[in-house]
Amino acid sequence: MNLSRFSRVKLCHAPTALEPMTNLTRLLDGPNLYVKRDDCTGLAGGGNKTRKLEFLIGEALEQGADTVITQGAVQSNHARQTAAAACKFGLACEILLERRVPDTGPEYETTGNVLLDELYGARIGFRPGGTDMNAAALELADEVRARGGKPYYIPGGGSNRVGALGYVNCALELLQQANDTGLRIDTIVHGTGSAGTQAGLVAGLEGCNSGIAVLGISVRQPKEKQEEAVYRLASETAEYLGIKTGLARDSVVADDGYVGPGYGQPTASMVEAVQMAARHEGLLLDPVYSGKGMAGLIGLIRQGAFAKGQNVVFLHTGGSAALFAYRDVLLA
Ligand SMILES: *Cc1c(COP(=O)(O)O)cnc(C)c1O
Repeated sequence: MNLSRFSRVKLCHAPTALEPMTNLTRLLDGPNLYVKRDDCTGLAGGGNKTRKLEFLIGEALEQGADTVITQGAVQSNHARQTAAAACKFGLACEILLERRVPDTGPEYETTGNVLLDELYGARIGFRPGGTDMNAAALELADEVRARGGKPYYIPGGGSNRVGALGYVNCALELLQQANDTGLRIDTIVHGTGSAGTQAGLVAGLEGCNSGIAVLGISVRQPKEKQEEAVYRLASETAEYLGIKTGLARDSVVADDGYVGPGYGQPTASMVEAVQMAARHEGLLLDPVYSGKGMAGLIGLIRQGAFAKGQNVVFLHTGGSAALFAYRDVLLA
């Protein structure tokens, strides 16, 4: 597996730390818990999109683009990190934000990630919930072309086979850390949305025959749909990497028990997880992804899904900028 074959820029402070969560391990009285600190990737306050953007911006520059276009929900962490990466490489950035989450607080569209998008000088357009955001972004790309620009389109969450290479890289990094410290990792758990993170991890870990399981906690859609999306992208990514064997369908597992009413909508278990991680480990999770991911890990431990003595790594994908848009929910 040779990632140096692909165009890439340097954005991520890597390797990110792999740390024990001793207090949560003791409190939950289950498996040994570790956290992989991809909230500390070093760009724009950090998060998982930074690893994807190393390969996406690499391809944009290779193609001679002068503008990157992307889209997401209003409090998109991906949009924030893309806006920052664009600044670093002298690219203009156009962002479309979908009003996907109902019943949000008064500052939802001005604080958190949106504030930072604006600070980075990105041009922002809002769209109603339910808009075909892919189509809207492609329309915008036509407009940029019509005025003489060279757009590069990054899909929502940076989740295509190019972006997923960032999480193949994370898989290789984790294996190196496991080898160096003699840590036998059994399972990696994280929040899964646009699928690129889990797809890259699975392609990398299966491609290396690691024997490590990945469990995605869905933040958006039912198990079957999420697994199908991850499996499709993981298979494409494996092929892009030149892995000849194909991936087993059962290497992709998602749990949809922690989504609640829908994407970005608070749940009691998310609030508990955000508060527990903060108050026992000093970690900042987020209300949309890592909070629900951690709620899944906590819930599964309580159900006895992991044996004592197993080593479980929570992949912290970042997102704390969005905390500021959810004040009333988190501190009610
Ligand atoms: C985007 C995001 C995820 C989900 O990653 P996908 O690759 O979209 O599945 C998880 N956590 C945070 C904080 C994110 O911003």
